[in-house]
Amino acid sequence: MPATNLKIDGDRLWATITETALIGGTPKGGICRLALSDEDRRVRDWLAGTIREAGIDLHIDDMGTMYAVRPGRDMSKAPIAFGSHLDTQPTGGRFDGVLGVLAGLEVMRTLNNAGIETDLPLCLVNWTNEEGARFAPGMIASGVFAGEIGRGWAYERADRDGVRFGGALEGIGYRGAEPAGKRRFSAMIELHIEQGPILEEVGQSIGVVTAAKGMIWSDGRVTGRESHAGTTPMPLRRDALCAFAELALGVERIARGEGLDGVATIGVAEVAPASRNTIPGEVRFTLEMRHADFAALERMDAAADALAAAITKSRSVSISLDRIWRKSPVVFDPTIASAIREAAEGLGYSCREMTSGAGHDACFVASVTPTAMIFVPSRGGISHNEMEFTSSADCEKGANVLLHTILQLAGR
Ligand SMILES: [Zn+2]
Repeated sequence: MPATNLKIDGDRLWATITETALIGGTPKGGICRLALSDEDRRVRDWLAGTIREAGIDLHIDDMGTMYAVRPGRDMSKAPIAFGSHLDTQPTGGRFDGVLGVLAGLEVMRTLNNAGIETDLPLCLVNWTNEEGARFAPGMIASGVFAGEIGRGWAYERADRDGVRFGGALEGIGYRGAEPAGKRRFSAMIELHIEQGPILEEVGQSIGVVTAAKGMIWSDGRVTGRESHAGTTPMPLRRDALCAFAELALGVERIARGEGLDGVATIGVAEVAPASRNTIPGEVRFTLEMRHADFAALERMDAAADALAAAITKSRSVSISLDRIWRKSPVVFDPTIASAIREAAEGLGYSCREMTSGAGHDACFVASVTPTAMIFVPSRGGISHNEMEFTSSADCEKGANVLLHTILQLAGR
């Protein structure tokens, strides 16, 4: 059979998505499967059983990440890896992460049924704790894999009840002996739902993800002067909230000036002393800015400082912006991205290049392995929500693109 005629079984993929969604399934049709919880253990047990039934070897590293290795003709070469994560947010959907793992399983089943052997071995990966909902930060296992997060530090992360990551991993029986990061891949491909509105908006099926946004997080404070709301004339006020309002709108303008990839969000703002008849003396807030282009992100960052300085002067307040975290944009591997594009075009699916606004395991893995991502549409752009939905047809298309990208990179 010519390669392009080979297709995954869309009904079987959908049945797998539906069946595993019951593990941690919520009444509203979502999933609550926090990392290293009993639900996480159950879905891992299901995956392990299914992998072994398919006659494929399973390995587990000391961060609990699962690797299913399907041999190739040339075992001296590192495998082509693909996968995502099976943990979810507390009120998560059925597709975030899940699709990438189950589509990878579907690819292996398809190759097994068709009796196809690849030159390079293949490796399906289920990364531990991508979400970071129970143990912050997210993407902790891929971070250790990439050598960017220390294993000891990761083990000490605690959940709200004081349970440590290391203990919880031990508790569900998924602490393997293999040191995370020891395993090498020739390439990694992560299929994921877009979690945003663009593909649906433009009516296209496949996103070829060429980069992921970098971000800068700041804690900010505007300090003015508290005074009596009735007796202080307007020109003599140093109102922290009004100064903050100018800052918030200015930050919005800065992001809008940097194209569709530029985003800035003030998600928290606390006004003090929060009294109806006292002029606000202080606003504490958070600011996060993202862009896929390094220079643009730096420009946004500098513009925020300049804006703060201008408002400080014009309103006689003081404004501080402390950068608490910074992550550079990730540029994915162009060779893998073009393999994804060729696979999509060969299958007759509409596709476009795009960037990822969210963090993914692929972002860490990209620092040690040539990596790229495939996106499929999210209905209404909704994610981290029980209403999250991607149609069976789109899941099938994504899995077919994954299959043919793998075949192209692994050789057959
Ligand atoms: Zn995800």
